[in-house]
Amino acid sequence: MLLEEVPVAVDSFNHDGGVLFFCSHAHEDHLKGLNKKWRKGPLFASAITRQLLLLKWPSLEITALELGRTYQIPLMDGLEIEVYLIDANHVPGSVMFLFSGYFGSVLYTGDFRLHEKHQDIASLAPVRDKGLSRIYLDNTFCDPRFQQPSREDVAAAISKRFRRKWPCIIFVESYRLGKETLLLHLAQKLRSRVLVSEERKKTMRACGFESDQVQIQSCDPLQASEDLLQTEALRGCIWAISRQNLRKGMWQASDSGCAFHGIRATGWAEQARKEESMPSCEDLDENLVSDDGVFHYLYSDHCSFLELVQFLQFLPKAPVTFISPVGSSEGTYSFDGADGIQKLMASASVPSIRYSERPTRCFEKTSLPRAKRKAEGPHEEDGYEQKKSAGA
Ligand SMILES: [Zn+2]
Repeated sequence: MLLEEVPVAVDSFNHDGGVLFFCSHAHEDHLKGLNKKWRKGPLFASAITRQLLLLKWPSLEITALELGRTYQIPLMDGLEIEVYLIDANHVPGSVMFLFSGYFGSVLYTGDFRLHEKHQDIASLAPVRDKGLSRIYLDNTFCDPRFQQPSREDVAAAISKRFRRKWPCIIFVESYRLGKETLLLHLAQKLRSRVLVSEERKKTMRACGFESDQVQIQSCDPLQASEDLLQTEALRGCIWAISRQNLRKGMWQASDSGCAFHGIRATGWAEQARKEESMPSCEDLDENLVSDDGVFHYLYSDHCSFLELVQFLQFLPKAPVTFISPVGSSEGTYSFDGADGIQKLMASASVPSIRYSERPTRCFEKTSLPRAKRKAEGPHEEDGYEQKKSAGA
């Protein structure tokens, strides 16, 4: 996104000339426009994100910035900005950016999960002295229906659940980055090892996850022999696997006669279960279990709706811009965002919310009709101020 206040682009890399580029974290959907030949301008990231980007594109020139330190960076026109990095508590290396200078102070959260240390943002000098002129906010789950518990609580529930089924193979669906803490928690609690792809092993090493307590081995379940699968099932292991390969891995283990289970741990747990169109039941721990044995846990690296409200309440009041486009229909991985916008404004006293609308995809299911809005283009919701003045 290109910021309005200053020639800075965060997590979007297709802009030409006179722009400083910042990368909040190394998830694929935040790297659009980057490639091995990319040379559009100065690029900044946290040290871990820099390492992860260099694994993918070794020829990139990236300046690593430390967290908790203020940097002065010259702009192209002789002016200067200050930037301060804050741990976003999302995935390894993920940060928020606090930009300040002639334009005031602007906070760009990137993807984040609320952490108690985020209360300290309000006392950072640029925020304390100037307030915030705008907050660019992660709105992935900006709807009151999203009430994911803390990741620590969910991880504890999972390890407790599977202690009763141990030993076995536990396939944990995961992207190339993220859920490392869950994998390691399960391995520690079950006194086991984590098996990952070779690429994922390099990623975990770059994030500093190699420890003496947990053994991390590279092994692809789809390439594993029947003997190996049986051995792993008897010893017990935590096996990270991509979303598209989860079922294949489970079928392979099933064909080999192994004891195994699959876990989908995501903030979209309920929607993901519906997507699979499988009947399911709630087990004794009230977790959703599909008929094919996949356990769906509500586990997220993003804030719940309540956490978004709490986060905004820690900060001085400022207009908000949503980082992601807002959906206008109910689908498997989308929801109608209109209600969430109104509720966030009312609950967190946000003066206004600017957002763009995600185009409706023709294959997505639509449900309830909604008020007509023009597709795409920026929108500004200032209902809170209107309501406030109307009520005053
Ligand atoms: Zn992310």
